[in-house]
Amino acid sequence: DTIGANLDRAVATWPDREALVDVPSGRRWTYARFGADVEELARALAASGVGKGDRVGIWAINCPEWVLVQYATARIGAIMVNINPAYRTHEVEYVLDQSGISLLFASLGHKTSDYRAMVDRVRGKCPALREVVYIGDPSWEALLSRATPDVSYEALSCDDPINIQYTSGTTGFPKGATLSHHNILNNGYFVGESIAYTEQDRICIPVPFYHCFGMVMGNLAATSHGACMVIPAPSFDAKATLDAVQQERCTSLYGVPTMFIAELNLPDFAAYDLSSLRTGIMAGSPCPVEVMKRVVAEMHMEQVSICYGMTETSPVSLQTRMDDDLEHRTGTVGRVLPHIEVKVIDPATGVTQPRGTAGELCTRGYSVMLGYWEEPEKTAEAIDPGRWMHTGDLAMMREDGYVEIVGRIKDMIIRGGENVYPREIEEFLYGHPKIRDVQVVGVPHETYGEEVLACVIPLDAEEPLTLEELRAFCAGRLAHYKIPSRLRILDSFPMTVSGKVRKVELREKYGA
Ligand code: ATP
Ligand code: MG
Repeated sequence: DTIGANLDRAVATWPDREALVDVPSGRRWTYARFGADVEELARALAASGVGKGDRVGIWAINCPEWVLVQYATARIGAIMVNINPAYRTHEVEYVLDQSGISLLFASLGHKTSDYRAMVDRVRGKCPALREVVYIGDPSWEALLSRATPDVSYEALSCDDPINIQYTSGTTGFPKGATLSHHNILNNGYFVGESIAYTEQDRICIPVPFYHCFGMVMGNLAATSHGACMVIPAPSFDAKATLDAVQQERCTSLYGVPTMFIAELNLPDFAAYDLSSLRTGIMAGSPCPVEVMKRVVAEMHMEQVSICYGMTETSPVSLQTRMDDDLEHRTGTVGRVLPHIEVKVIDPATGVTQPRGTAGELCTRGYSVMLGYWEEPEKTAEAIDPGRWMHTGDLAMMREDGYVEIVGRIKDMIIRGGENVYPREIEEFLYGHPKIRDVQVVGVPHETYGEEVLACVIPLDAEEPLTLEELRAFCAGRLAHYKIPSRLRILDSFPMTVSGKVRKVELREKYGA
């Protein structure tokens, strides 16, 4: 199916069920109304000269219009280009130019971001850009007024490129993964299948739509099962998220581990009624055991699922099952999804490793992207001639088929010839009573090549832990070369908008 055909089926099957709720503005859409609004926007785009293969950018915070643009562009076969709302003029100019965007949707402003002012600054430098439409502005209404009933769309194929998603930029500069209907619609559907979504489900989506976590695992998983998308706030806000869950009786909640940590740490956390929750997805980075325990016990998410994926693979390849035990949910990222293959190889030789041995994770199947937009060399580095996507992540497959993520190849610390995996040390340090959150990175060292730096957010800023305390805690329990030799106390970590810690930045800032 194309995304448009799949939405038509949802509208026909569940016309009166809720499709979308925007909590901040109180606006609500049934599937019937959502389908009609998507159709109107699609006609307006077609009447404005946007056709199959044309690039339409969206540079916006989470709002219902984001979702309408997602489905309207898919309906006419235009390629939607997701632009990170945290980008500033330099980055947005790069994306506008690199993907040749002719029509741009943008938010007006949010917090300190004045998107209109930034667009004005770069517009003259982007000749392909013909039109800018601001959400919540007369230009949006003006666009819609062009919709006529008699427009016809070009015929679409499931394998057409439909979406360019830039990666999170956790390890370097973001890359534009080009994806088809088939890639992302199937992935959203199968992710929803694994947690048994039905039209009864209401999914609270505090993760950004610009990222695959929001637009695929959230929106496409919802509409392919008739579930409802609930937007708690324009950008992540722990309090607004729990308010939305309570008020809208959500059954599912998404987030990266740091978002769940923020919610669990709200001073009035215990006052929320979260009893409507049954499931949810935690993905993007490893989940500490202590956090998972509290999510299951205190947020009632007994069926919470862990997903592993990457933008380039639509995104999800591995997922835990609803009834997996705590150990599998924290120690592993689950098993391979239907119709996808995975293997773990020795990165030096390319030979498949036996189960129980770590190596680079590779995935293959319908979910592998078409390629990086206009970057054939980078595509060839990532996808080999056998169509295997090389993830850049180190993983190990257990005997039972569950996969453990060991870390990113780029984050691995090599201290005096010993491989040190930051995740292992982070997990261990979470057990320290003075530590709220911790990141471990490798920083240059004259004799050892690299040494281990722990960046700690203390539970009590008045009484942070000392390096001596930290080392005493590790002594005798971790091998000497894994024990951090340096400590930084911080208030927060540098994050990507998708909620991941940018270890590169920690290394650059505190490595000297
Ligand atoms: P960039 O590629 O630009 O550096 P990025 O890799 O963070 O950024 P994404 O595509 O958003 O961009 O994230 C995919 C990566 O996130 C994976 O390659 C993996 O390293 C990490 N990841 C995803 N899910 C999990 C998980 N459940 N546990 C551990 N790591 C995960
Ligand atoms: Mg990546």
